[in-house]
Formats: sequence, structure tokens, C-alpha cells
Amino acid sequence: MLIVNGRLVTWEKENRVLDGQAVYIEGERVVEIGSQVEMRDKYPEVEEVDAGGQLVMPGNICAHTHFYGAYARGLAIPGFPPKDFPEILKKLWWPLDKALDEQSVRASALVHLVDAIKHGTTTLFDHHASPNFIEGSLDVIAQALDQSGLRAVLCYEVTDRDGEQKAKLGIQENSAFIRKTANGGVADGRVRATFGLHASLTLSDETLSLCREALGEEGGFHIHVAEHEADEYDSLNKSGMRVVDRLNAHGILGPRTIVAHGVHIDFVEARLLAETGTWLSHQPRSNMNNGVGVAPIESLMRLGINVCLGNDGFTQDMWTEWKTAYLLHKVWHKDPRRMNGLDVVQMGVYNNAALANSFFPGQKLGSLVEGSSADLIFVDYHPFTPLTAGNLPWQILFGFNESMITSTMVAGKFLMRDRKLLTLDEAEIAAQALALAPGVWERYQTYAT
Ligand SMILES: [Zn+2]
Repeated sequence: MLIVNGRLVTWEKENRVLDGQAVYIEGERVVEIGSQVEMRDKYPEVEEVDAGGQLVMPGNICAHTHFYGAYARGLAIPGFPPKDFPEILKKLWWPLDKALDEQSVRASALVHLVDAIKHGTTTLFDHHASPNFIEGSLDVIAQALDQSGLRAVLCYEVTDRDGEQKAKLGIQENSAFIRKTANGGVADGRVRATFGLHASLTLSDETLSLCREALGEEGGFHIHVAEHEADEYDSLNKSGMRVVDRLNAHGILGPRTIVAHGVHIDFVEARLLAETGTWLSHQPRSNMNNGVGVAPIESLMRLGINVCLGNDGFTQDMWTEWKTAYLLHKVWHKDPRRMNGLDVVQMGVYNNAALANSFFPGQKLGSLVEGSSADLIFVDYHPFTPLTAGNLPWQILFGFNESMITSTMVAGKFLMRDRKLLTLDEAEIAAQALALAPGVWERYQTYAT
């Protein structure tokens, strides 16, 4: 296909905004970008897609999310409101993930995938938990992804909080799914795997060793780190080491490992993350909602840590996460110069793309260049001030919103075109999820009280 009449945003390291250019896509790839007049002459027989003056840009990437959390929406937490993050885990998330069965895992994932397609997030790193439905849970999510057409990296969060047997099942689920996806065998290679761990505070040394052993030499982990001080104190009590030091001692860190949050790590832990090339994902909306504090993200980036941006399952609209990061660090430091728009782009575009490309080698995700996978969005944004490659970050932060996304494409296939979903039926998915909700909430109440 030939995409014409679009303004192209390339998100190359020196970003470019191109007018009068067309994009020729063959199969899954962007094959050629060039003058629209010449491209029309060169490819006269090819189907044209008229972008109608919209921006055509790479789809967004989310470095950390939880598809399993959809049933938290509107849920009543019994008793007093949780006073801190450990209570939020005990009163909300741990009883809720126990309430999930096969059907509700599928429904929860599909609800998030609809959200992702509508809001232009084309690659997602999910972190799954359903302690009463572990075996085969990642296959259920992968089937939903296959149907949706999106791209994702999945894992199951291993934890000791539900006993040894379930920790072992979690290890097996990760190992089995890593094997299945190893050669691009799931969803035409659009679904990949990593090894999930909940957090240091729910993992014994024995379980960490078992996980390291199960993974073998290759691959990495996806784990929450120091989201709250409780994680650090628990680690010091258990091992005499802070969380990142403890994970390092178990061989958990490295250029294939993602640690989420890192709000309470100290300087030495930060240096360890930088030295080992470990990815750190920042989720400002979640941090604000849980009242856990603010990681010194700019300093961590200056130290050389590859800081990415995730959404922690809040909602799948990444520009809302950009805006939250942009605002949070300003109010936290009482300084409007903090968290420059370029820093947000470094996390949300370049670092997220580098992370995604380490799991999907050769795809050039996150950029619109010749040879990149055709993971694109059309954005119906008509600027009333000059839009340039230089000011695009601020046009996005102050002017864009995800409802302007009219079309979403992954691997050369439209998943939404002119706001019409083509792979998933939103009304049917919502109705199915809604029908299951009373059962999920009832089971939640029995675990929560
Ligand atoms: Zn999380």
C-alpha cells in the first residue's frame, strides 16, 4: 500500500517531520519513503491510503503494564481506605488477582487491547498475575493478542505469597512460554516472552535461585523494584542487602531485564542498574495514585540508566503518561524547568523503542524509516502554530490527545481504520467482560475480607 497525503513523523534520533512524502508498505515493512509525486509514478498499481493531512507516525510503546487489572475499575475496597502501598497490595491487588479465572483473564486482556488499539499503543510489555489460574494463562493472553494484531512481550509474575506450589507453577509458566515464543512461533512472532518476578519483597532467596536456574543463560527478567520503601526494608531484613544489590547477587540484572519504578533505590543501586545496562521503567500516574513518592528520573538518566515509560495498567494511552511525567517532576521540584519535553521523548520514544527492539530484533520499532516494521498511527491534529521536528514534543504535550488517533496499524495491517476497530469487537468484548464482572467482584470480596 502507498500512504499519501500525510505529514510524516520519523522519530529518528534527529527527528524529522516530512511533508509531500509518501510511504510505500509491502507486507509488514515500510519499504520506501519518498516524494509523493515520484512514488505515485513508481507504484501506479498499488492501493493508496489517503491520510487526509493527518500526521502519520510510529505507534507508541509501553514498557510496563498489567492487562489483568481491568476489573479494578469501579471496584469497592472493603473497610478503611488503604493507608499506603503495602495495604493497597493486600486490600486490592492480591485479592483481585486471586479472583481471576481463565475467562476473566481473557476478558481483562481484551479490554486492555481494545484500549491500546484505540489509543495508538502498538507494543506492550505486560506483567501478568492470576494465582488461581497460572498454567496456560500466558497462552490465553497470547491468543487475545493474536486476535488483536498487537505486539507484546509477556511474562508471569513469580511470587512466594501464595505458597511454594504456586511459585513453582509460575516458574513453569514462564519457562514454557519462553520456549514457545523463542523462534517467533506465537502470533507470527508478534508475541515474545520474558521471565516475570513480582518483587523482592515476595520472593525468597530459594525462589530467586530457582528462577535464575530455570531461565538459563539467555534472557532476562521483568520485576517491580523499590516501588515503596517496604521493598527495601524487607530486602535488608532478609539479606542484609538493598533490593538492587540483592537482585544483582542473584544474577537478575542485565541488558535484558526490566525493573519497574525504582522509586526508593539509593545511589549505589542506581549505579548498579547503569553498569549492568538494566532497563528501568517509570510510571508516574501509578506512583501518584499509590502515593509512593517520585524517582529522581532526570538524575537516573544522567547516570546512564535507560529509563523507559510504562503505564502500570492505568490506561493504555501513552501520551497521558508523557503529560503526567512532564508535570509531576515540575511540581515535585517546584521548578518548571524540570523534566524537559526532550527528556520525556527520550524515555517515551527512544528508550522504549530501544527496549522493544531488543525483544524484536531487526524490526526498527518506534521509528518510521525504510525497513522499519509498519507499526503506525494516524493522528488527526491540525496545528494552529508551526509544527516542527524541534517543537513536536511540546505540540504533543500540550496539544495532542489519544482520541485524535483515527487509525492504528501493526506489521502493515490496519487494526483500526478511520476509528473503526477491525480485529476486535469492542461492544462484544465489553459485554462479555461485564457479564463476568459480578463473579470476579464476588470472589474478590471473599479474598479481601
Ligand atoms: Zn506494575
